[in-house]
Amino acid sequence: MAKPRIYTTTAIVLKYRNYGESDRFITFLSRDLGQVQGFARGVRRSTSKLTGHLELFYNVRVSLAIGKNTDVITEVEILKTPIKINNSLNILSCALNITELALNLSTEGPGNEMIYDLLDQTISRLNVTEEDNAEKLLAYYQLNLLFISGLAPEYKACVECRDELTQQDHLYSATSGGTICPNCTNKQIGSFINLSVNSIKVLRYIENADIKSLEQFTIPESVISEVNEILNLHINHHIDRKLRSSSFFKGID
Ligand SMILES: [Zn+2]
Repeated sequence: MAKPRIYTTTAIVLKYRNYGESDRFITFLSRDLGQVQGFARGVRRSTSKLTGHLELFYNVRVSLAIGKNTDVITEVEILKTPIKINNSLNILSCALNITELALNLSTEGPGNEMIYDLLDQTISRLNVTEEDNAEKLLAYYQLNLLFISGLAPEYKACVECRDELTQQDHLYSATSGGTICPNCTNKQIGSFINLSVNSIKVLRYIENADIKSLEQFTIPESVISEVNEILNLHINHHIDRKLRSSSFFKGID
C-alpha cells in the first residue's frame, strides 16, 4: 500500500467542531497555506497524543496526511499556548471575535501571510495585556484587517463629495462605506450613526500605531466603544454574515 502524502505547516487553531465520540475537525490558519482543515482522530480521548495540543488560539507545527475528503492530523508540536486569554471573559470575547474575522476574511491557499501575521501578533498581545486593553487590540486588529483586505472605511474625506473632513463630529454610513460631511448628510437617505471627532482621531492614530504603543495610549471608554461599534458595523456590512462570537457574548455580562 502506498504511504499517504504528508505535509507540515505552521498554523493557528481558529475553530473546532466535535465529531463522533472522540474526534474533532480543526480549522487552522496556516501562514503559507491559508485556511486548512484537519481531522483530529481521538483528540478528545485522554490517551491520544493529540490531546491538549489543538486548543483554540494555539500556534502549532502540524503535519497532515492528505485524505480522500479531509486531511488527517498526524503530528502536532506546540509553539505557543496563549492560555491566559481564557482568564478574562472580556479578552476571550475579543479573541473569539478576531479568530471569527480571520475565518471570514482569509482564504485557502497562499496569499494570507499578512492576515496570519496580524492574527499571531494580536493573539500574543491579548495573552499578556491588561484586561482594559482588549477593546483597543480588537480595534487594532479590525482596522488593520480591513486595510489588508481592501475594505477599510473612509474617515479622512467625505465618501460622497470627497472633500477633506473638518475637525468636528460627522456621521458614518455603513452602506456608503464611511463618513459623510454635513453638506452631503442632508441629501442622503438611509441610516447613519454618529462618528465623533475623537473617534476619527483614534481611527487615524490606530492606522499608524504599532501594537505596543497603542496599549500605552489612553483612550476613553466611550470613544473606544464607539470605534469598536463603527468597525463592527462596517465589518458586518462587508462580510455577508454576522459575527457569531460577538453576538453570542453580547448576552453574557
Ligand atoms: Zn460631502
